[in-house]
Amino acid sequence: MLWHSLLMSDSVTSPAQTKTALLSMTPEELVELAAQINEKPYRAKQLLEWIYKKRAESFEEMTSLSKTMQAFLEQNYSLRSLTFARVEGSKDTTRKYLFKLHDGRFVETVLIPASVSFAGERSNRRTLCVSSQVGCAYDCKFCASGLAGFTRNLTAAEIVEQIVQVEKHSGERVDNLVFMGMGEPLANYNQVTRAITVLNAHWGVNIGARHITVSTSGLAPQIKKLAEFPLQVRLALSLHGASDDVRNQIMPVNRKHPLDELFDSLTFWTQHKKQKITFEYILIKGVNDSDEQARLLAKRARGLEAKVNLIPYNTVDGLPWERPDIPTQDRFRDTVASGGVVVTLRREKGHDIAAACGQLRLKEETDLGIIPAMIPEKRRSISASLND
Ligand code: SAH
Repeated sequence: MLWHSLLMSDSVTSPAQTKTALLSMTPEELVELAAQINEKPYRAKQLLEWIYKKRAESFEEMTSLSKTMQAFLEQNYSLRSLTFARVEGSKDTTRKYLFKLHDGRFVETVLIPASVSFAGERSNRRTLCVSSQVGCAYDCKFCASGLAGFTRNLTAAEIVEQIVQVEKHSGERVDNLVFMGMGEPLANYNQVTRAITVLNAHWGVNIGARHITVSTSGLAPQIKKLAEFPLQVRLALSLHGASDDVRNQIMPVNRKHPLDELFDSLTFWTQHKKQKITFEYILIKGVNDSDEQARLLAKRARGLEAKVNLIPYNTVDGLPWERPDIPTQDRFRDTVASGGVVVTLRREKGHDIAAACGQLRLKEETDLGIIPAMIPEKRRSISASLND
């Protein structure tokens, strides 16, 4: 039927899902939906409220809608597609949620309570770290998320639903959002920006744009694109190396978009957005923790007035990398600070769990045989390349 094919655009339907997800639809799209079945535009407004404000989980609940509309929605649309597979942690600590997607794959979402500091700041905000893809294609050598490669993009609805489900489960509103879970958000640009639009909108989830951070491994062209996106979201750049030789060793994306190109795009960003950029810099023993890297990092950060978050590496099962000892971490921080840069070094537990995002899903999918247990082989190949 025409109305259905019109609304079944790729933007809202995930693979093998026959019903269209409502959780990322905009008011305009809902007006169109209502018009297709000869319902008045005010029905769209009612539906919008049921979806985002009242968080209805079934069409039966939507008592203000006509019975025909309810039946039509029931047949063609869905309200939820994620199920809780596992929850770790307790109310006062960081809580890690493993969600099962409709196609049997898994993603992680991490809730960091207000009392735990995150991204260098201790605030009174509840931060949620969301995933944007199943797996990741960027193959950063230290990261668990990309160990089994890339499976698929999440839809905007699957991104929005992570917030909605966690708010329901925890009974708390999320007021700070970071795209630092599994995946490269800028490689899933359209779905991520659609999700951000819904998450930010007053008719939607209503999280301030300044409290939404997109973290990227350095996709220069998409950084420029996001710079022109109208909402004032924040950018975190996963730098992890202050020179091309160091960065090339651990982040293959750097060969495609080397530091010169990357920093051009960051300069472009600073010309378009008001908020300062944050550099994320994992400290990995013997790889990127030298005084020279600290000095170079300070120079790069100063040039853009960027803040630096240093994160002692969290070991990943099966990978050979380690964090440097505490005196080395402190010296690195002090060298960056003496270069005139705002720098934080965070060793908090909350972040440990968040940064290890990807490990829980990896274990679950390996145990279930969805992905092969290939980590020992990967470890051997990384060790071999280190010894070259
Ligand atoms: N692809 C995006 C977002 C996901 S990763 C990006 O690269 O920014 C979120 C952050 O966690 C990144 O800074 C990433 O480099 C970091 N990270 C990944 N594995 C980590 C580990 N084992 N220890 C500490 N930080 C890690």
